[in-house]
Amino acid sequence: MAQEDVFKKLTAHCKEYGFIFPSSEIYDGLGAVYDYGQYGVELKNNIRKYWWDSMVLLNENIVGLDSAIFMHPIIWKASGHVDAFNDPLIDNKDSKKRYRADMLIEDQMAKYEAKIEKEVEKGRARFGSQFNEEQFRTTNPRVLAVAEKLENLHHRFVKAMNDMDLPAIRQIILDEEIVCPISGSRNWTDVRQFNLMFSTDMGSTAESASKIYLRPETAQGIFVNYLNVQKSGRMKIPFGIAQVGKAFRNEIVARQFLFRMREFEQMEMQYFVTPGTELEWFDHWKTVRMKWFRALGFPEENYRFHDHEKLAHYANAATDIEYKFPFGFKEVEGIHSRTDFDLASHQKFSGKKIQYFDPDTNQTFIPYVVETSIGLDRMFLHVLSSAYDEEKITNANGEEDERVVLRLPAALAPVKLAVFPLVRKDGLSEKARAIIDELKYDFNCQYEEKDSIGRRYRRQDAIGTPYCITVDHQTMSDDTVTIRYRDTMKQDRVSIPHLRDIIKEKVDLSMLLKKL
Ligand code: ATP
Repeated sequence: MAQEDVFKKLTAHCKEYGFIFPSSEIYDGLGAVYDYGQYGVELKNNIRKYWWDSMVLLNENIVGLDSAIFMHPIIWKASGHVDAFNDPLIDNKDSKKRYRADMLIEDQMAKYEAKIEKEVEKGRARFGSQFNEEQFRTTNPRVLAVAEKLENLHHRFVKAMNDMDLPAIRQIILDEEIVCPISGSRNWTDVRQFNLMFSTDMGSTAESASKIYLRPETAQGIFVNYLNVQKSGRMKIPFGIAQVGKAFRNEIVARQFLFRMREFEQMEMQYFVTPGTELEWFDHWKTVRMKWFRALGFPEENYRFHDHEKLAHYANAATDIEYKFPFGFKEVEGIHSRTDFDLASHQKFSGKKIQYFDPDTNQTFIPYVVETSIGLDRMFLHVLSSAYDEEKITNANGEEDERVVLRLPAALAPVKLAVFPLVRKDGLSEKARAIIDELKYDFNCQYEEKDSIGRRYRRQDAIGTPYCITVDHQTMSDDTVTIRYRDTMKQDRVSIPHLRDIIKEKVDLSMLLKKL
């Protein structure tokens, strides 16, 4: 499905069911800024807690932090963001649309890759069980021709990006005959650098105002608190500091729903280690983080690592965990070995010693850092787009029907349990409410009495509620209810005192954490 269609569908579903609203909608919205509605905020909280607990609860040497968004402006000089947090942008003169030049080229490379895959599939269809994929890829002339083009382009691209050679980047776009997807033309401007940080003024009068930045990442708040946490917590290396918080980037391309927002949330963990051990820890965190994703139960083959060719100025190793969104493999998390770049730089700019004394070796050093950095909103989009399913079913009257169901991992679902009285009389409503009163301390429950039971099921399916319970006349005599499972739509009759255990077994966050 084309990217626009996926976003259209998800955007509409999210809005209709109270997950995501465009910011300031009654004023026609604000580009790439979104609000989380009643179910969205619950799902987001659950994802955040899954991450937080996996870091802080499961690791006794990782502690939390909540640093301010506003920070001293010199921090962003020291971190390199003032000088180097730029994207290369290019405008199409006909459509007046602005693009990230590097992304236009990456899309072109993805097209070549897709071409190769298409040839391979054609080969597979033609040769059937005789098909030798390895041989086909290394000998088929059409595959080889495309692979060579891809290789050349890749080489030129990496060089141009590493040198930040803007004319060379533009020349690639011209040579590859890349067209604007809107106007279809190749009428491009020059490529320019664009700094992604938002700035504002702090202070009440113009004379005393100083320019400060809205943080573009949460990590720097961790670095500048390294000494505070290490000393007050008497932390011994290796140890980690975890933080979840807002970050702001004035993104050039803002047409990708939650994937690329101008205000978003990051979940970052900086792990401080002895110099020389960082690559071991880098591998360790790659494994740990991939497990965290896989525990959610979405198809394993939809995840992959993508190692960086062009390392950021601070890194000596970097990889992305990518997920196969309906619009292709895209980064959800970055894992970076940041060396001592940040701490050393803050030491230099602040004039304060930022070091660690290792009592075991009697050595003093600036720790190295391995970071894991994941976007909460991007993770939300991953979970939502993986869970969204349109399914053909047969309804209670034996007719063909369709339902939209969010197959969310039960521990992340906004509502765990919906309770319906079959009818609004004979004391069934009161009984349903009594069940909720009993269970609301353990689970997010919802009471619903409007419409047929079938329609109530559909509404709960659409928000991903794993369990629905119906109170009927039999309930009044034997204290049993029907429990209906979201994914299979099967129903069982169970006794009310057993409900808590049945539900807890699937929806408790500890069930996910125990898989890690
Ligand atoms: P991209 O290449 O997609 O712009 P990045 O490499 O700049 O991302 P990092 O700086 O490594 O991203 O940030 C870590 C994580 O923060 C990303 O993996 C992503 O999940 C999230 N993130 C970054 N920018 C945005 C954004 N504009 N909107 C939503 N999430 C974002």
